[in-house]
Amino acid sequence: MNVLFNLPSRENALFRDEIDKTIKDVLDSGYYLLGAHVKAFEQEFADYCSVQHCVSVGNGTDALEIALRALGVRRGDEVITVANAGCYATTACNLIGAVPVYVDVSESDLLLDINKVNAAASPITRCVVATHLYGQAVDVPALRDALDQAGHSDVTILEDCAQAHGAMMHGRMVGGLGDVATFSFYPTKNLGALGDGGAIVSNNEQTAQTCMQLRQYGWQGKYESTLPLGRNSRLDELQAAILRVKLKALPTLNARRQQAAAYLQQHCHGIVEVVTHASPAYVGHLFVVRHPQRQLIRDELAYHGIATDIHYPVLDTDQPAMQMQPFRSMGLDRSIAATAEIFSLPCYAGITDDELEHIGKVFDLYIAKMV
Ligand SMILES: *Cc1c(COP(=O)(O)O)cnc(C)c1O
Repeated sequence: MNVLFNLPSRENALFRDEIDKTIKDVLDSGYYLLGAHVKAFEQEFADYCSVQHCVSVGNGTDALEIALRALGVRRGDEVITVANAGCYATTACNLIGAVPVYVDVSESDLLLDINKVNAAASPITRCVVATHLYGQAVDVPALRDALDQAGHSDVTILEDCAQAHGAMMHGRMVGGLGDVATFSFYPTKNLGALGDGGAIVSNNEQTAQTCMQLRQYGWQGKYESTLPLGRNSRLDELQAAILRVKLKALPTLNARRQQAAAYLQQHCHGIVEVVTHASPAYVGHLFVVRHPQRQLIRDELAYHGIATDIHYPVLDTDQPAMQMQPFRSMGLDRSIAATAEIFSLPCYAGITDDELEHIGKVFDLYIAKMV
């Protein structure tokens, strides 16, 4: 049996009729950008995240860049983040000319270690990007407390929720825990479009208003550009209409991911170390494990038809492009050690019980005897 790493087409097949119908609606409506579907989706997604405002944009990286600018991050300012989260926040910083300052992660979940943030802060720190990596949630209220207690009340928090649509922390949805939050609707995300898409959510009206202007030429009104550094980054009507269909099913899709992750966790237990543990703060975006003999295990899984991947194989600090950019990094021992050992198993809403059982069997019968 072959188990592919991810197959968003399976998930989209569940909504085939509704998607066909809504695409036809958009065609009939004659509105392609910033029309009724975008407006309705922004309202529905804000409600889902329990926040006041949602501004949809072209993708998750634009969302990061625009949200950082809306928080007042400028060239030369420092932004604290982690180095193991795929370089997206770093890319946004590079576009602004802001300087990423990397802190290490917690051993248990490989998320931003909030105890390391204050030591990294400087007088030019403007923001902390807390990435809810793998579908797990950073304890943002605890991060806020830590910053405040150290006298850093002026440092803002941006939640990168691109892997964590629907994750809960202290009974609250991610997205409303910091000053602003960003999402991606790339097809393999927990809420995925049939192409690119992104959103920024916030409870701060001014922040949302600035994002709305920055996504469209800096316009305050039609042809009236009042903010510099605006650009064009819009979610289109077709993607918004499709996302509206899938948003209704997001709790079900996340539940299936969590169920798949729980099954995998049972079969990995005692064989490889599980990074992503079951909890309401984990929506199963990726199921990540680690082992010193990663390559041996991945090869055996591949022999049995099971695809795996590494999230992520290179720290931001080691990316060739970053050798030409300014950054600071604190001690990253745990990030470095994890990068050499982590790998991800197939875990997505469209995975079948048969596929999960096959992975479970291969762990029980083969991997357990090898390592
Ligand atoms: C996918 C992702 C992004 C970027 O989203 P795009 O829509 O691909 O630009 C940003 N941050 C994280 C953590 C992601 O996983």
